[in-house]
Amino acid sequence: SDKSVIVSFGEMLIDFVPTVSGVSLAEAPGFLKAPGGAPANVAIAVSRLGGKASFVGKLGDDEFGRMLADILKQNGVSCDGILFDQGARTALAFVTLRADGEREFMFYRNPSADMLLKPEELNLDLIRSAKVFHYGSISLIVEPCRSAHLKAMEVAKESGALLSYDPNLRLPLWPSADEARKQILSIWDKADIVKVSDVELEFLTGSDKIDDESAMKLWRPNFTLLLVTLGDKGSRYYTKNFHGAVDAFHVNTVDTTGAGDSFVGALLCKIVNDPTIVENESKLREVLKFANACGAITTTKKGAIPALPTVADALALING
Ligand code: ADP
Repeated sequence: SDKSVIVSFGEMLIDFVPTVSGVSLAEAPGFLKAPGGAPANVAIAVSRLGGKASFVGKLGDDEFGRMLADILKQNGVSCDGILFDQGARTALAFVTLRADGEREFMFYRNPSADMLLKPEELNLDLIRSAKVFHYGSISLIVEPCRSAHLKAMEVAKESGALLSYDPNLRLPLWPSADEARKQILSIWDKADIVKVSDVELEFLTGSDKIDDESAMKLWRPNFTLLLVTLGDKGSRYYTKNFHGAVDAFHVNTVDTTGAGDSFVGALLCKIVNDPTIVENESKLREVLKFANACGAITTTKKGAIPALPTVADALALING
């Protein structure tokens, strides 16, 4: 039915990744274009797993914006919620691959089109059709997309959608760490499902411990599910009635970009069809095993979007 839709709201951009590691941007001999942006990755993850997904956001009316919309369409994601800004450019990120394997980002957001989405431009019919409404926090940083974000959340909630939040902390984009923490936590208690990484858990609680006690500090009464992703250590889950951990799969990891988005997409695909998963621990553990498999597969190829799995890929890892 129309209601089995996951609507993912926020940014979509292109990462320019140097063809070699360990050099500065100025020394890079060339770049590969890696399309991404967490909410867009989640929409494509859902679609590749056979779910019905829409992306809501703003792109520049330029070659990069058209390229990104084409990628969504080719992947079966509905683009009815996309707008093209006539003035601003599509967001871009230039990635430095440091010799130690870490990534540093330099963003073109001056402001970029994604930050200029206005509340009155939202496709409200589309948002009302959401069974799950998913969002990340980049759009909380500045106006007018901040107001658009808050309005979209409210409309989705009123229409009965489950709200799913992944803060996707990108600290360099915020004016300060305190502001980031304050803004992220300001919408914390509106969500039903929240997923944080271990790094975000530390950042938001201000503690360097990644344990149950620390995770519980982030729990809010209206949550149905809180997830903590731990890379090759798998994931932890917290519900009103039980909590636990599910181990990761052992894979040959080459690039972890998009693993968290793949995990979220897989989880949302399952929850959209059966929201009672969060009330049944053995069902939830099955779902998280599937989501961990999807995350693991995404680390075995370069880039996020090309590495997102199908159901067959996930089952092959689980049963193999
Ligand atoms: P995030 O992008 O939110 O930091 P993670 O990197 O923790 O997310 O990845 C999400 C999920 O993907 C993890 O919970 C885990 O199940 C799986 N995963 C991520 N990295 C690896 C890895 N190196 N090996 C196996 N599984 C992984």
